[in-house]
Amino acid sequence: MAANKGKSSCSKCGKPFVGLIITKAFAAFFAIYFFAMFFFNLLVTGDDWLREQLSFMEPIMPFSWEYIPLAFIALIIGMPIIMAGIVPAIEKRHRTGNGLACKECQGIIAREQADAAEMARAKQEAQAYAYQAKIEGLEKNDPWLGKLIRSWKQDNPNQLPEESMIDELIMARNMEKAGNYEKAAVLLEKYRFWEEAGRMRRLDDQQVIKHITVDMNTLIDQVGTKGLAIPYKCSSCGASITIDKDSKKEGLKFCSYCGTAYNIDDMTKIIQHALE
Ligand SMILES: [Zn+2]
Ligand SMILES: [Zn+2]
Repeated sequence: MAANKGKSSCSKCGKPFVGLIITKAFAAFFAIYFFAMFFFNLLVTGDDWLREQLSFMEPIMPFSWEYIPLAFIALIIGMPIIMAGIVPAIEKRHRTGNGLACKECQGIIAREQADAAEMARAKQEAQAYAYQAKIEGLEKNDPWLGKLIRSWKQDNPNQLPEESMIDELIMARNMEKAGNYEKAAVLLEKYRFWEEAGRMRRLDDQQVIKHITVDMNTLIDQVGTKGLAIPYKCSSCGASITIDKDSKKEGLKFCSYCGTAYNIDDMTKIIQHALE
């Protein structure tokens, strides 16, 4: 029955909780006794012969019809008081973080928990210190990363950048090395390094321009071979230039009158059309 539920000894040293065991034993005895009182009185009421047979129990068990409701009341009032009131109250005195423990062990467990917490705190502190030293090392020894970290610290006083940020900045640098400037710019933007992201994007543009001017040189060569003179009009100010064998690729980038960048795609199409 319910009295046997749960442990009645210290979870650390195994010492039994005598008070708890006695209370549970008493609860079991209480329940059995009053249940028997209820049951036998129900049985013998109006049956004198049976009552005669059970008379040997009379020293410990009274027989009369009033004991039927009395036993019933004792059970429905007494059992909840013991099982829901007294037993939990005793258990509570032995309760620790996990399971029940005796007085001495409670002290030991509390000390162990305090030690563990202290160890964890010290470990965390050491890790934080090591990380701070690592960031300071990067600031000092890595010019590019150091500059970014210092500017980040200015925007976030009394804070350290997260490890993931450092990793992604290093990734951005690798992307720059690999020529993937757009990816590098996206990574830098994530941490609000607008200027550095802008520098990456300009590198990206230069790469495109370089690629196009190579094509442009070939086109001008072909224009020269065919002896063509192709007029081209600035879309911004309307000024005209002529593309012929003497055109230099630098002269075909920006309008010399208004400074607007020529639309390289347009210009390429016009020249290609003239060459057909
Ligand atoms: Zn113990
Ligand atoms: Zn112009």
